[in-house]
Amino acid sequence: MITNEIKEKIRAVVGPENALDSNLDLFGYSYDSSFIPLLPANKPDFVVRPLTTAEVAEVMKIAYANDIPVTPRGAASGRTGGSVPLAGGIALSLDRMTNVIELDEPNMMITVEPGVRTIDLYNLCAEKGLFYPPDPASWKFSTIGGNVAENAGGMRAVKYGVTTNYVMGLEVVLADGTILNTGGKALKNVTGYNLTSLFTGSEGTLGIITKIILRLIPMPKVRNTLQLMFPSLDEACSTIHKMLQSGVVPAAAELMDKIGLQAVARTRKLDIDPNTEACVVIEIDADDEAGLDKQAQQIDVIAHEFNVTEVRIAKSFQESEDIWAIRRGLSSAVGAMAPTRFGEDISVPRSEFPEMVRRIRKISEKHNLVIAVYGHAGDGNLHPSVLCDLTVPGEEERVHKAVDEIFAEALAVGGTLSGEHGIGITKRAYITDALGEAGVNALKAVKRAFDPKGLLNPGKIW
Ligand SMILES: Cc1cc2nc3c(=O)[nH]c(=O)nc-3n(C[C@H](O)[C@H](O)[C@H](O)COP(=O)(O)OP(=O)(O)OC[C@H]3O[C@@H](n4cnc5c(N)ncnc54)[C@H](O)[C@@H]3O)c2cc1C
Repeated sequence: MITNEIKEKIRAVVGPENALDSNLDLFGYSYDSSFIPLLPANKPDFVVRPLTTAEVAEVMKIAYANDIPVTPRGAASGRTGGSVPLAGGIALSLDRMTNVIELDEPNMMITVEPGVRTIDLYNLCAEKGLFYPPDPASWKFSTIGGNVAENAGGMRAVKYGVTTNYVMGLEVVLADGTILNTGGKALKNVTGYNLTSLFTGSEGTLGIITKIILRLIPMPKVRNTLQLMFPSLDEACSTIHKMLQSGVVPAAAELMDKIGLQAVARTRKLDIDPNTEACVVIEIDADDEAGLDKQAQQIDVIAHEFNVTEVRIAKSFQESEDIWAIRRGLSSAVGAMAPTRFGEDISVPRSEFPEMVRRIRKISEKHNLVIAVYGHAGDGNLHPSVLCDLTVPGEEERVHKAVDEIFAEALAVGGTLSGEHGIGITKRAYITDALGEAGVNALKAVKRAFDPKGLLNPGKIW
């Protein structure tokens, strides 16, 4: 319960204009970009927007002393409900903490506050010839703090990895207001437990991330895009596997099935051969044009071993953009095919990608539901989208059964519940299936160590 006295104390810390409690404000902080329905019970009691680490620490001290739950929030682009406040209390928005503290060119590192938008970080580094590779499709609005808290991935993960591969150090405000620093700029660091990794992907349940040190790499000099069409999903996947085994590692290898392609064709001109079952969009990069051409030729040869029906190698920046537009427009095009869409995020061993797609097809037939499948085939991360109309009697129940079965099959082929969106609220029912009792108990022990009162983002992960 937040009394007026407590609100006044917090207002004195962050300024009255950054501590909000009108109904409209509370409503605005009660949802994110997941498919969780809007519920009055998910409203916070108070929205707090601190500007500095010291302010975050003061707010946390007040919350801790008064047993007030705190739900951290970046841009609320999360897909699993992570920033939805389930227990009232404070919605702690980090959106005002947007300082770039240092761009350290000799060490190729950047230190930022959590509210910096991912794309702004990328652009700032690019101006200096430096590259921050993780590129979630949401990068135009997601914050780097949210990316670290979710260990976000992106299309370039196949070659360059995900957020955690770039986080060198963090400043974290703990539940009781203590300020903790982890890691640092030393490239090699074996000093106690790796707390930097622990906080990365902790979904706001262990502490508030207030400063982030990121490793950068030199920006590749040239890039190009290829579009490949295949008569079967297996042949598309085999092409990607053979490419990777032969040492041609694309920066991105995105696959979409026929349903996805048909969805995109409804929104833009796209001539699709009726026999096409899969489209692969590939990005390659290199230090010079010759290196780029060599990779494109190698991919062309491999794709022909697997019956590719069309290979389009972009000849201009515009053509590259046109090909990427197919992939970028996919999620919204698929979403527009039905009144409701449940977009999931599973990750399987790369070799199981075609088998997983086959299993999803069976689930789709069994429950008489359309399920579009697309994803980052280069690293085994799939996004099955269940399309439905919840006003049809019985449809909601069938959707939930289908989603349950998709997760069960992902685990059965050796995969995981999430490649990049985290567990949040939407997947917590399956966490024991994935980790077992011992695994969940270990997570809970970690949680108790950092947050003994259970005030940080309650109701998430399990
Ligand atoms: C159209 C679209 C495309 C997307 N594409 C991708 C994609 O390609 N790859 C991918 O990985 N994700 C993707 N996402 C999901 C989402 O953008 C990411 O999870 C992103 O990292 C969330 O960042 P955010 O700033 O919006 O965080 P929020 O959604 O506000 O928060 C996410 C979680 O992080 C916690 N959190 C936020 N900031 C902090 C902080 N400073 N300290 C501690 N905890 C914090 C919150 O409590 C919550 O649990 C997509 C989402 C959309 C809507």
